[in-house]
Amino acid sequence: MSLEITLVPVLSDNYSYILHCTKSGAVALVDCPDADAMIQTLERMKLQPTMVLNTHHHFDHVGGNEDLKKKWPALEIVGYGPDSDRIPCITRKVEEGERIKVGEYEAEILFTPAHTRGHIAYYFADAAAVFCGDTLFFGGCGRFFEGTPAEMHDSLQKLAALPEDTRVYCGHEYTASNLRFARHVEPNNAFLAQTYEEVLSLREREKPTIPSTIAQEKQVNPFLRTHIAAVQQATATQGADPHDAVSVLGALREMKNNF
Ligand code: ZN
Ligand code: FE
Repeated sequence: MSLEITLVPVLSDNYSYILHCTKSGAVALVDCPDADAMIQTLERMKLQPTMVLNTHHHFDHVGGNEDLKKKWPALEIVGYGPDSDRIPCITRKVEEGERIKVGEYEAEILFTPAHTRGHIAYYFADAAAVFCGDTLFFGGCGRFFEGTPAEMHDSLQKLAALPEDTRVYCGHEYTASNLRFARHVEPNNAFLAQTYEEVLSLREREKPTIPSTIAQEKQVNPFLRTHIAAVQQATATQGADPHDAVSVLGALREMKNNF
């Protein structure tokens, strides 16, 4: 039994995902802004989706819902209940702690607000995979459009608490730019320097850098490293209180916005 995960690059730097439970034949999609690209890929793979899992309401994540629903009228569209007026064609409203079955696999809903106030992630414990949209990126995190540094801190810590071998499937290919910023914050982190080289080499060959793992994120992602002295020092120059993780996180986001 396995859950096959296919990355579908869409728009300029988004990732949609196809999840295929090979035992049951169930197929779910994660965040689809471009229905045409997705339909072509699914037809090539000879797969019929029964479900879309949306992480948040931004157009580059839900823009394909309507056309997918036209093509497959029985499609279940899953999203965060309190945000249902912003998620086109939603049929199944979920909240923190609920579970969604994809064939033999089950996702737990993790509420991870701050990028938007209704952002969720889908954690498949049995597949060691989390789909975290624009909350946690490889080497970075999403902008705080509708939330505070404290909310983003809680959301990131929830993801960081997953088992270390959990594969992290995020919403965008921002890794090279994120790690360039991470290097600026932590110039002496050797593991980060090595990861950055590997990422540049993948991108030169136009290969995705996704997925990372929770273990990797903890070693390279400054937004998960607010307890590290170098990160605290870098943000202290921006006025952050080094002993306050939320203050460090907020300063990091400001620095990244202007980097
Ligand atoms: Zn977004
Ligand atoms: Fe996005």
